[in-house]
Amino acid sequence: MAKASQGYFYIDQTCIGCGACEHACPGKVDAIHRVEDDFLGRFVIDPATCINCGVCPPLCPVMCIHDARTEGIVEGRGGYRAIDELQAWAAAGR
Ligand code: SF4
Ligand code: SF4
Repeated sequence: MAKASQGYFYIDQTCIGCGACEHACPGKVDAIHRVEDDFLGRFVIDPATCINCGVCPPLCPVMCIHDARTEGIVEGRGGYRAIDELQAWAAAGR
């Protein structure tokens, strides 16, 4: 079944790679992945897969998982591109 919308959650570059969020993301969704070859072992959210369940942010010990909606990032056009840019630090290893 096609997904109605993209995810609004993103991880910033201060991730310490603890893996807590990856375990929290619902099994069938599995939107969080370790960035390949990242020397800090950080994680990234795939916005095309995230279902906006909101489970992961409170579990992060360094509060680096954000909901772009609460930050006003998704208002108007270009919101998803802005989210992609906020996770651009991980793009090389994805
Ligand atoms: S909000 Fe939910 S679906 Fe999205 S990355 Fe976090 S745990 Fe996974
Ligand atoms: S819970 Fe936070 S610090 Fe731990 S891997 Fe996820 S985003 Fe990184």
